[in-house]
Amino acid sequence: MSLDLTTLYLVSAMVTGVSGVLFLLDMHDRPEPALRWWGLAFLFAISPAIIYALAGQAPEFVVLNPIGNGLVVAGSSLLWVGARAFNNKRTPLWAWVTPALLAALLPFGLERPLVTWSGFPLLAGGVVVFNLLAAMECWRPVGPRRRNHVVLAVAWAGGSVFYLFRLIAFLVFGPDDPNFAVPFGSEAATIGVLLLIVISSFSMVALGKEVSEAALKLAATRDGLTGVLNRSEFARLAEAGIAAVAERGETCSLLLLDLDHFKRINDTHGHAIGDEVLAGVAAAVTRCLGPRDLFCRYGGEEFAALLPGASPAVAALVAERVLRAVRAVTVSTPVGALRPTTSIGIAGADGESMELGALMRLADMALYRAKRGGRDRLEQAGMLSDLVGKTQRNA
Ligand code: GH3
Ligand code: MG
Ligand code: MG
Repeated sequence: MSLDLTTLYLVSAMVTGVSGVLFLLDMHDRPEPALRWWGLAFLFAISPAIIYALAGQAPEFVVLNPIGNGLVVAGSSLLWVGARAFNNKRTPLWAWVTPALLAALLPFGLERPLVTWSGFPLLAGGVVVFNLLAAMECWRPVGPRRRNHVVLAVAWAGGSVFYLFRLIAFLVFGPDDPNFAVPFGSEAATIGVLLLIVISSFSMVALGKEVSEAALKLAATRDGLTGVLNRSEFARLAEAGIAAVAERGETCSLLLLDLDHFKRINDTHGHAIGDEVLAGVAAAVTRCLGPRDLFCRYGGEEFAALLPGASPAVAALVAERVLRAVRAVTVSTPVGALRPTTSIGIAGADGESMELGALMRLADMALYRAKRGGRDRLEQAGMLSDLVGKTQRNA
């Protein structure tokens, strides 16, 4: 099989160009800065194949080769800049422009006359380093590692390893030896890079979508101020949790919290300080709960926690811990430290009488008693089954 290099270059430029345009169209209305850098990487990746194709047309065009090399290094380094942007890191301009300029310009000073392979070690070295850096950045994302992080990291690391072997074979055998030309010559490299571009473009778009979807899901299920579950997600998870507990014949308890004199905090110190108190309290309560427990901002300055498997006695111990943790929250204000407190109503359920709405109403009655009893305290409403039993006996 013989491959015509000029045709390969043109096919490569066309596929890269089409992938790039589709990528740019897709990222048009999405804000992630990483996508913008990767879009730029595409623009850089289109031109080298055209330049190499031109360089092969006449001996005097050989001077174009180092320019193509510089553009390849720029494209590769932009993968790294984009991956860093995905991890919220900024990269100085010089860090990616300098290597590309060196790859493009150094051969003009070092090698005379220029030949087709002039500056190849600079090109290969740049691709090895930047593809590896991009892969490492993708492998260790700031958030959870998603499927497309893995695909990109593996593809880019593969590109880095291929160029490393290419460089070694070039240095050991030289460009005309079949040991270099067959596995690592321009034909093989163009096909390899083409594969890498197709995988990258697909996975970069998919990763952008994965990340946006995760952000949307977070916004739909979490409270924006405190980061704990919002009311609707809590209700969804709590209903499923209660059903599971009922099936196992276990008890569960619900704590309803309402911050004390919160209106006064807002009126005295302003809404921003009030918000800080809410966030501080939510974090403190979260630290008191176990991994099975569900905790949400129920609304305003009210929070709810469902403790699956917890008896009323265990729930009271947890609530005591919560009271102490909230008392320990300090928010500094211009007039000194502010220490919030909360009141807590507790209700329990077992057997068949488990229903989230009824449990909430029962806990709310206990919460009301805690407020009337002086605040910064807990009150037990007892078990929902007792109440249901009593109602049935009275009927
Ligand atoms: P009590 O001890 O009886 O619970 O008194 P309270 O002042 O806490 O109760 P009340 O229900 O009168 O006040 C709740 C206040 O919570 C009123 C509202 O302005 C404030 N609030 C609700 N949501 C937010 C919020 O997101 N941020 C801030 N800063 N305040 C909020
Ligand atoms: Mg309230
Ligand atoms: Mg309150």
